[in-house]
Amino acid sequence: MKYIDMHCDTMTVLYRKHEDLSHNDLHVDLEKMEEGECLLQNFAIFTNIAREDSSFTWKVIDFYEAQMQKHRDRIRRVLNYEDILENDRNGCMNAMLTLEEGSVVDNDLAQLDAFYDRGVRMITLTWNYPNGIGCPNFTYAKETQGNPLYTFNEKDGLTDFGIGYIRRMEELGIIVDVSHLSDAGFYDVAKYSTKPFVASHSGARSVCGVARNLSDDMIRLLAKKGGVTGVNYCSEFIEDHNETYTSIQGIVDHVRHIAKVGGIDCVGLGSDFDGIGNALEFKDASGMQLLYQALKPYFTEEEIEKIFWKNVLRVYKETMK
Ligand SMILES: [Zn+2]
Repeated sequence: MKYIDMHCDTMTVLYRKHEDLSHNDLHVDLEKMEEGECLLQNFAIFTNIAREDSSFTWKVIDFYEAQMQKHRDRIRRVLNYEDILENDRNGCMNAMLTLEEGSVVDNDLAQLDAFYDRGVRMITLTWNYPNGIGCPNFTYAKETQGNPLYTFNEKDGLTDFGIGYIRRMEELGIIVDVSHLSDAGFYDVAKYSTKPFVASHSGARSVCGVARNLSDDMIRLLAKKGGVTGVNYCSEFIEDHNETYTSIQGIVDHVRHIAKVGGIDCVGLGSDFDGIGNALEFKDASGMQLLYQALKPYFTEEEIEKIFWKNVLRVYKETMK
């Protein structure tokens, strides 16, 4: 069963380690993707704005383009929906360029056009810092009280700049991603967006209560807007206070809950591969068929197709230009 994965940090890690996508010791490389039957992998350029600025983002984009050029016989970047179908027909896997941290536009919406021109097709509006677009649920700040994973922000939504930001994204055909965003920001995106949006790497809060997951109300609203949430494999997001190990059944539990609450059309996959530090039962991208097998007792083949790739592909078709 082929799959689409809406989020990994692999490209940013490879850039830092000067390693190659074909073969490495990370969760994702071309060999593992082929073994796991990958149809499309989103590659996020993650910029930590406490340490780096947008010049870093552009450098990693250069690196991504060089990797795509080097391995074009096995994987090709997608700029529109038709590219995905054509690459698949030609026996190539697909790569979509995404940004994790929307403020790398440096307060200038014209920079969104510049990123679009270089192939960016999805943007996670915030990471774990407030950024001029909106706020995350928890921030990595000294004044944060208690466990930040269980801190919710129902007050600070999108700024005026943030509202203009998602409007311009939609005009260009860049998909809005609400993972990391505050609860207030989520509801603002639902209010101001006119197209389906995604939570690229977030599970269900009713199964594991961290603020990075979506509440049942959010899941219903996301589904109503035609969006998809990609279940994140990080152990702390799968099971409360589990910092060490992600079981396959744990992921299945999130998929089942999201499908029950929001319907089968709103659930997808968002591994967070190479952004998570804990061990996984199926190890890495090569083990994706073990997840497929584990879903079989609960879902029909057609339903698993939707979970594994068709739901996300539908959103891409409706949002990209
Ligand atoms: Zn993330």
